[in-house]
Amino acid sequence: MNRGWLSVMVCGVLMAACVQKLSMPPQARVDEARLLAADSDPGNWMTHGRTYDEQRFSPLKQITAANVKTLGLAWSYDLDTAHRGQESTPLVIDGVMYVTGAWSKLFAIDAKTGAPKWTFDPKVPGTAAPNACCDVVNRGVAAWKGRLYLGTLDGRLIAVDAASGHKVWEVATTPPGSRYTITGAPRVVKGKVLIGNGGAEMGVRGFLAAFDAETGKALWKFYTVPGDPAKGFENKALERAAQTWKGEWWRFGGGGTVWDSMAYDPALDLIYIGVGNGSPWNKKLRDPNGGDNLYLCSIVAIKAETGEYVWHYQSTPGESWDYDATQHMILADLEIGGKMRSVIMQAPKNGIFYVLDRATGELLSAEPFATLNWTTGVDMTTGRPIQVPSASYGNTGKPFVAMPGPGGAHNWQPMSFNPGTRLVYFPVTELAFPYIPDGDFKKHDLGWNTGVDFNAGSLPQDPKIKAQIKSGLKGHLVAWDPVAAKEVWRAELNSPWNGGVVSTAGNLVFQGNSHGEFVAYQAMTGERLWSFATQAGVLAAPISYQVDGEQYVAIEVGYGGAFGLAAGELSRDTHIASNVPRVLVFKLGAQGALPPLPKNAMLRLHPPADTASAADLMQGKMAYHTYCGTCHGDSATGNGVLPDLRYTALLNDQAAWDSVVLQGADSARGMVSFKAELDRAASERIRAYIIHRATEDKTLEATSHE
Ligand code: CA
Repeated sequence: MNRGWLSVMVCGVLMAACVQKLSMPPQARVDEARLLAADSDPGNWMTHGRTYDEQRFSPLKQITAANVKTLGLAWSYDLDTAHRGQESTPLVIDGVMYVTGAWSKLFAIDAKTGAPKWTFDPKVPGTAAPNACCDVVNRGVAAWKGRLYLGTLDGRLIAVDAASGHKVWEVATTPPGSRYTITGAPRVVKGKVLIGNGGAEMGVRGFLAAFDAETGKALWKFYTVPGDPAKGFENKALERAAQTWKGEWWRFGGGGTVWDSMAYDPALDLIYIGVGNGSPWNKKLRDPNGGDNLYLCSIVAIKAETGEYVWHYQSTPGESWDYDATQHMILADLEIGGKMRSVIMQAPKNGIFYVLDRATGELLSAEPFATLNWTTGVDMTTGRPIQVPSASYGNTGKPFVAMPGPGGAHNWQPMSFNPGTRLVYFPVTELAFPYIPDGDFKKHDLGWNTGVDFNAGSLPQDPKIKAQIKSGLKGHLVAWDPVAAKEVWRAELNSPWNGGVVSTAGNLVFQGNSHGEFVAYQAMTGERLWSFATQAGVLAAPISYQVDGEQYVAIEVGYGGAFGLAAGELSRDTHIASNVPRVLVFKLGAQGALPPLPKNAMLRLHPPADTASAADLMQGKMAYHTYCGTCHGDSATGNGVLPDLRYTALLNDQAAWDSVVLQGADSARGMVSFKAELDRAASERIRAYIIHRATEDKTLEATSHE
């Protein structure tokens, strides 16, 4: 009897199982039934937050607080992405890991051995880089019926065959030539791929779009802010939202991008989206006489089937500080006031931890989790923050040094809710920022459009002031009780920009940090139990999974992102110097080691003669902070991620400098031509400013390198 006949006979007996087996693809066998039951399948991590409620909790408990000391490196995988920020949460499905890296590259790896299976490179053009506020990062893919769904930095959504790594279909989700970028992970709900985008620093109008997973056909689109009223509104929710806007905001896009978090409640059939900041930030310039500017900085619940609005909660009405509410949202059932409530929780940039009823949007609690000076707290009768008048720098015309700044008291770095400890774990940043109104605002086609003067707010060169600012740079990992609305423990990190979190049933919390450590903490007490030197700062969130009966913990390492690039020397001095992008995977008893780091040749500053006039230097400095600083770092001090321009040989060669700045010789790496905004004289003044800065620092270097 041949195997064909045997199959037919077995199929005859077990018809249902055979239909299932024959119809399921060979890899990434994820469908609605499997995603709905993901919590009882702890070996796999099949969607961005592991389960639709995005709790990022692993029920695996082979690795525990008692034995974590024997955790070791099982395998590592070097990412072919350039030394950029790495922010991806891997998926692991039936023994295969799917993880993304910078420039929207996708890697399939054997989850047990680390053996590469395939790589998919969507070939994002370098010209997309200046549209990304916060590095050329990517946070992961969605899986559905044998395919993986990847959003690319240049706005495409691509379906990739999970077995072969070949493209199945591709659609443009954003208009050609626009300044949208995709860095977030898609989700798949009921056969629909959901994807948002970023760009509110550049001047876009935010939306979430749904596409048919099978064909790529566009199904629905939910705009988060109203467009030009003269053109009519797409729906009633936007018509109502438009009553909170008065000016000509649509000329600047309005903002409200859905650049990261989503969650899904199958029982209510609601999708929750986190909505970002206004564009430009400065409300005085965006909409001087308008009101709350809905649905900026809100959580919005929409119907999965149609994308229709259901409810919203706005955490920062009339926002002016880049206080995105795009941060991670977690669904859980909690006993609050003696009653079980189905809640949604968020710790957005504005520094307040929110607990809402997720069926209605009713505010249940709102307590600060960080040092705040823009508000004195939330009025629970109105649900609105009580805003400090001086915080409205656009209206007062005066600088406001805010806690938190645009990096947020908590940014995109994922949290974790542990149903065992009933605690939420997340990284907190304590970092002030001077919001200085831009008196000379015009919309740029390159560079940021915030209405905030980054030049006036750049780091002063006075060493005493710098030392004072650096001493205020802090961050910690917090364990937060969402019922009592208070902190339970914290682990100090003494740096502001650190990694996301996973917690496990082994009573553990795992987090990587900017100092180049991957650390395990005891989940109840915060006691530090184990660490591993990662050879790179860490931003991404870990996961845990199981293959052939063994539990693994995985983390992607690599430093960059918003603070990593824009904060210049404040970033450079708060992360380890090496930045090797990798996936690191650990299991009990493993003894693996990373290769030793290559020795860095000591760089010396050799700027040419500093001869420019004071007027040229001033203009060069302003142009630097308009066009260069958000990637190469504030005040041309370097950031330890992208090239430190004080050291570039281009300073010595004007023609070579112009070939990069004006002709785009390095555009494949993201350093595009700035010819549209800068003429040769302006380019030369930027060079002169950097020569001046290198000359200033040469004296300091001479003493510190001895
Ligand atoms: Ca933003």
